[in-house]
Amino acid sequence: MAISSSLDPIIAIATAPGRGGIGIVRISGTGLRPWAEALCGQALTDRHAHFLRFVDVQGEVMDEGLALFFPGPHSYTGEDVLELQGHGGPAVLQRVLQDCLARGQALGLRLAQPGEYTQRAFLNDRLDLAQAEAVADLIEASSLAAARSAMASLSGAFSAEIQALSARIVELRTLVEATLDFPEEEIDFLEKYQAAERLQGVLDHLQQVLRTARSGLVLREGLHVVLAGQPNVGKSSLLNALAGDEVAIVTPIAGTTRDRVVQAIHIEGVPLHVVDTAGLRDTDDPVERLGIARTWAEIARAQVIVHLQDARQPGDALDAAIVARLPAGTPVLDVFNKVDLLDEAAREAATQRLGGADVLMVSARSGEGLDALRRRLLQIAGWTPGSESPWLARARHVRALEMAQGHLVQAAGHAAQSDQVLDLFAEELRLAHEALGEITGEFSSDDLLGRIFSSFCIGK
Ligand code: GDP
Repeated sequence: MAISSSLDPIIAIATAPGRGGIGIVRISGTGLRPWAEALCGQALTDRHAHFLRFVDVQGEVMDEGLALFFPGPHSYTGEDVLELQGHGGPAVLQRVLQDCLARGQALGLRLAQPGEYTQRAFLNDRLDLAQAEAVADLIEASSLAAARSAMASLSGAFSAEIQALSARIVELRTLVEATLDFPEEEIDFLEKYQAAERLQGVLDHLQQVLRTARSGLVLREGLHVVLAGQPNVGKSSLLNALAGDEVAIVTPIAGTTRDRVVQAIHIEGVPLHVVDTAGLRDTDDPVERLGIARTWAEIARAQVIVHLQDARQPGDALDAAIVARLPAGTPVLDVFNKVDLLDEAAREAATQRLGGADVLMVSARSGEGLDALRRRLLQIAGWTPGSESPWLARARHVRALEMAQGHLVQAAGHAAQSDQVLDLFAEELRLAHEALGEITGEFSSDDLLGRIFSSFCIGK
């Protein structure tokens, strides 16, 4: 969907489908007041709840409830908005909606597309793009932490950081561009304005924003964790223990988890998508081999690999073979399960054998060590427990910040050259500025806007 340029008045049911105490029909458009007052059969005081009967074209009462009129620009969309709050039943809401549509024909009233109210709020400068996305994220938030962070973004905390960064880049750009007009001054530019120091300051600031944004991204999208290991080491049991209910089939016969089981669990509000995989071993069974092939595919996609091993056999040759095949660059947690089966001496021996390496001893059965495992997973996710909630970030925000960082690093490279190339320096600053502008929607293509708003629910 391309961003809608038609500014016809729009209507939608704003409340969720299904039955509820209250159902809201919302209409937004410019110059809506005369129509809204005719529809309600009375004058409407701004932002005032009027109790009235909703009467259809034929004069039959459809429902009764509240009518609220929000004059633009002080409304959600920035246009005039009329809200009809009646009873939350699908039939009654449809009837009110259809009646309004029929009576709004002359105005060009039409059904709203997904996200169109928020899109208008963006176009009318009520929200920037990051805030508009936060509206959708707040609605979709599945944990308290995610909801808090989405609210932080919606209130503009993230946008304010981006604007502060942009302002620092703009300041540098202004100095550079001014100097470019006077070539004889180019030589002194960097020293005169301490450009390198300023640039470093911007880079440090950006690094800090990027760190928080990455945390925010994890909070929004979760972390893809794969449980890998030999059959029977307790992968399914560990997944169940982490999830707190029975999701994978646990059986004492080796090689039973032939397909993958994905379970979303929350640790301190951070969603983890944990994949239980077929045990890795040599086998002739074609079905099992298929499962093992899938396991390797999952491992290749993982953000974190939990390599689960039997604490009774630390340093097993088959585990060494698994380790050798794990992708370089993906963090691997070495976790030893079934410690409940070891006595003190055996534990001591196992720890000795592992040479004090950074390993975790757990028991899926007794729950021992699971908290430490949860803490390690959060740490790898880049999440600081108990930290202030970051803004909820999207992958495109992190990408844009990384782009901006790349351009600033390039700029720093130009600044460090003896025969300074100020026009290249200026160009990199411009590109960094543009990358940041994509986050707030200052420089965004219609295509991107269309994609963002079309993923909203209808009525928002
Ligand atoms: P998977 O093949 O790796 O998924 O292993 P399962 O989760 O199916 O477990 C294999 C067997 O080990 C089952 O009989 C489990 O009850 C048992 N098991 C799993 N975790 C533990 C543990 O921490 N302690 C003990 N004693 N047994 C466990």
